[in-house]
Amino acid sequence: MTIPLGEFDLIARYFTRPARRAFLGVGDDCALLPAPAAGEQLAISSDMLVEGRHFLPDADPEALGHKALAVNLSDLAAVGAQPLAFTLALALPQAEARWLEGFARGMWALADAHDIELVGGDTTRGPRNLCITVLGTVPQGRALLRSAAQAGDDLWVSGTLGDARLALGYRLGEWSLDDVAQATSFARMDRPTPRVTLGLALRGVAHAAIDVSDGLLADLGHILQRSGVGATVHADACPASPALRTQSATRRRLCQLAGGDDYELLFTAPTSARDAVQAAATQAATAVTRIGRIETRPGLRLIDAEGQVLDNAYAGFDHFRPA
Ligand code: ADP
Ligand code: MG
Repeated sequence: MTIPLGEFDLIARYFTRPARRAFLGVGDDCALLPAPAAGEQLAISSDMLVEGRHFLPDADPEALGHKALAVNLSDLAAVGAQPLAFTLALALPQAEARWLEGFARGMWALADAHDIELVGGDTTRGPRNLCITVLGTVPQGRALLRSAAQAGDDLWVSGTLGDARLALGYRLGEWSLDDVAQATSFARMDRPTPRVTLGLALRGVAHAAIDVSDGLLADLGHILQRSGVGATVHADACPASPALRTQSATRRRLCQLAGGDDYELLFTAPTSARDAVQAAATQAATAVTRIGRIETRPGLRLIDAEGQVLDNAYAGFDHFRPA
């Protein structure tokens, strides 16, 4: 017989570890952390995963634990911040040990890999909802901002794009995939790799940065808008995984240009910094590819390998856009 877990047993069993950098971690009304050192700023971001919106009820809990933290670490990566601590607000329909064990395992594995400490949170009964807030540190004035792109900058992206959308399309029944393509694209969708080391290495090298969560062109749009610039993007220069390279050009473009959930870094850097960008990529063991250029002329121009202008029909995801 399994004894039902109470709220405080649950917190103690799955989400409490001795405080390290924190002066006070889980267990009191607030966590206490040392203030950032002189010359440093705190970087703070929240991201929520909602059942039925971001994941299905039968999603693997271990992958969810990973992803809930990964999407938050990705925001720290996008500003070039060093992960410090996080909080976890959890709504669950019931305290189910098997689910919690898996979730905690996935979350702690990624937390340990990035040396980030869980310092508190909230736990309540309700439709499943996973909300993490991350804290990081960045030297004053060194954060990579969406607003810092300059005309003449190269446009770069890390890793490969489009795999998460390829997996989503399969799961929605839009297309079929062979076993290998399923395995590789599911891994990208379910267990994204936050590019924290790359973000850190790009401080002082890149101008603007953003993580690709809603779609390449949609997220690029945020940089352009905030920086008051335009861009030309070479659609066929976007780096693709072997699985995506076997797809039709139309499907590949859809996945790469409009697909979200890749959590790669999209960033701009002056042409004089090409060697420095490559050095940062080597240091972070993450490939980077040049896919376009920032320009004074407003708007986003999309061209193919022959330089032909393509229609930009690749809006990204917006939770509140009318269907
Ligand atoms: P309060 O009622 O003062 O908000 P709670 O009783 O909700 O405090 O939480 C008790 C302690 O457990 C607090 O330190 C809180 O930060 C922590 N906590 C609650 N839920 C979680 C969770 N899911 N993960 C980590 N810490 C948690
Ligand atoms: Mg509470």
